[in-house]
Amino acid sequence: MVRGALVPLRGGPVLDLRGPSELGERTGDVVRWLYLGSQDDVGYLAAVLSDDAAADSPTDSPTDVAAAGAGADRWALLRDVGAALSDRDAGLATMAVGLVAWHRSLAHCPRCGAGLLVEESGWLLRCPLDASAHYPRTDPAVIVALVDASDRLLLAHATQWSPLRFSTVAGFVEPGESAEQAVRREVAEETGVRVGAVAYLGSQPWPFPASLMLAFRAAAETTEVTADGVELSKARWFTRAELSGDVDAGRVTLPGRTSIARLMIEDWFGGTLPGE
Ligand SMILES: [Zn+2]
Repeated sequence: MVRGALVPLRGGPVLDLRGPSELGERTGDVVRWLYLGSQDDVGYLAAVLSDDAAADSPTDSPTDVAAAGAGADRWALLRDVGAALSDRDAGLATMAVGLVAWHRSLAHCPRCGAGLLVEESGWLLRCPLDASAHYPRTDPAVIVALVDASDRLLLAHATQWSPLRFSTVAGFVEPGESAEQAVRREVAEETGVRVGAVAYLGSQPWPFPASLMLAFRAAAETTEVTADGVELSKARWFTRAELSGDVDAGRVTLPGRTSIARLMIEDWFGGTLPGE
């Protein structure tokens, strides 16, 4: 079962997976079934619950995992609990949340406005009038661990974040641009730093609502930092001692453990840093 970016849990946490006969009174709340795949002869589906059913569940604190309805199900935001889930559960939940976000965003044909019909077990939406096919979208974004010649890491504070939060620079890839070009442009636009060598680190699906985060380590050729004041209100270099000191003292909070940003920061740091 999926409600927006909320997924149901049992203690552990593990995903609250149920057989078709175990949905009980929830059966009437299901508005759409989406096929997620199979493993070891077990098929997995996402049951998308109606907004009304979601409103009935007293859970909507972003960080609390609260009791919902009469069943034993508890709901949590995937971005809060993703790091604690098993690989299988994290994969199922990430796919389900991303697919549901797409279904919620695309009810009508962008060409003619007709209501779209579900095909391919939820992986294709088809217009009944002009037969146009619409597939789930994924928007590539780059995220950059920018390191200077003194091995300091650049972290930035985005204007919409809570006051103490710092993370790596990130931004969407634009049409006609390679991921490496996007790294150079985003860093230059947001911080004024010129980027030299760029190396790919890895990627992470980030279905809030439809991103694929492409992670890079990049070498800074300049060190003067000017936050653009639009997307970033602050950006500064950290030595390892400065970062651990600021985190220990509560002057800086880092992105959550579900995010690749946290992995990149701790990879540079060379160990685990405190905080969720
Ligand atoms: Zn159409």
